[in-house]
Amino acid sequence: MTTGTVEQSAAYYATSESNTKPTVTSKTPKVDVKNPKPALIADQFVSFELKSVHDVNHNTKTFRFALPEGTTELGLPTASAVVTKFVKGTKPDGKPDVVIRPYTPLEDPADGYTGYFDLLIKKYPNGPMSTHIFSLKPGDKLDVKGPIPKWPYKANEFKKVGLIAGGTGITPNLQVIQRILSNPEDKTHIALVFANIAEEDILLKSYFDDLQKKHSDRFNVYYVLEKPPKGWTQGVGYVSEQIVKEQLPKPGEGKVFICGPNQMLAAISGTKTPDYKQGEVGGILKKLGYTENDVYKF
Ligand SMILES: Cc1cc2nc3c(=O)[nH]c(=O)nc-3n(C[C@H](O)[C@H](O)[C@H](O)COP(=O)(O)OP(=O)(O)OC[C@H]3O[C@@H](n4cnc5c(N)ncnc54)[C@H](O)[C@@H]3O)c2cc1C
Repeated sequence: MTTGTVEQSAAYYATSESNTKPTVTSKTPKVDVKNPKPALIADQFVSFELKSVHDVNHNTKTFRFALPEGTTELGLPTASAVVTKFVKGTKPDGKPDVVIRPYTPLEDPADGYTGYFDLLIKKYPNGPMSTHIFSLKPGDKLDVKGPIPKWPYKANEFKKVGLIAGGTGITPNLQVIQRILSNPEDKTHIALVFANIAEEDILLKSYFDDLQKKHSDRFNVYYVLEKPPKGWTQGVGYVSEQIVKEQLPKPGEGKVFICGPNQMLAAISGTKTPDYKQGEVGGILKKLGYTENDVYKF
C-alpha cells in the first residue's frame, strides 16, 4: 500500500499513439495519500467508470477505469485479483443471469496515486464477460470486487523468482515484476518464461524487452512459441524440461510462480485442486525435484 504525499513522477505503462505498442510514461499527481483510502471493498461490488481503451494486440486490450472520487488507491496488495460482475439477462426462472469472472489489475500499488487502474483482457469468442467488457464505451461502468489476495509478495524474501506465464496468465506475474523492479532496494532476480502460440500473441513484448535492457542485472525474459516465425532464436513448442532447467531457479533456490491455462499447469506444475487450493506439485517441476515449497500456482 502507498503512504506519503506522491509528488514525484511514477512510471506506469500506457499505449503509444499507434495503440499497439506499450510505452513507459510518467505522471505527476499531487494527491495527499498519507491516509490511503482504497477504492476496493472486500465484500461489496463497487462501480468503476471506464475512462479509455487501448489496443494491445489482435484480441487483447487494456481497459482503464477511474478510481472513484475521494479514494486514493485501488487497494490491491501484490499479488491479488479482483472479480467483475454483470447481469447478462434473466434466467428462465425469472432470476437475474449474473456473470462473474476474476481478473488481475495491472496497476502496481507501489507506484503511488494514479487515479485509475488497468485491466488487460483477452476477448474469447462467445465468452460472456470478455465480450461484455469489450462492448463497454468510455463513461460506462463495471462492477468490481476485491482484492482476492494470492501471494503476499515481500521484498528480498527470495534471491530469485521464476515466473512461468501462458497468454493472459502474464497478468499476476506482471504485478510481481512491477513490484520488484519499482523498488531499488529489492535485489530479487526475476526469470520470466512467457509461452504463447505465435509472436503476435505475446502481450506487452516491447515492454518486457525494454525492462530487460533497463534491468539486465535483475530481469530476464525468455519467450516460448508454439508457432515461431522464421529465424526465431528462443523457445519453440511447449515449455520443456530443458527450458525449465536452463531458465528458472533450481529447486530450493527461490520461488517459481505459474499462471496459465489448465493444460499448461497440468504439464508443468500440476493443476490446482477443484476447490482452488495449491494441490501437489506435478508435471515437469515435480520430475525435476521441485516441491510445494518451491512453487506457487496463481
Ligand atoms: C485468478 C484469475 C485471474 C485472471 N486474470 C485475467 C486477466 O487479467 N485477463 C484476462 O484476460 N483473463 C484473466 N483471467 C481469465 C478470466 O477470468 C476469464 O476466464 C476470461 O476472460 C474468459 O471469460 P469469458 O466470460 O469471456 O469466457 P468464458 O465463457 O469463461 O470462456 C470462453 C472460452 O475460453 C476458454 N478460456 C477461458 N479462460 C481461459 C484461459 N485463461 N485460458 C484458456 N482458455 C480459456 C474457456 O474454456 C471457454 O472455452 C483470469 C482468471 C483467473 C482464474
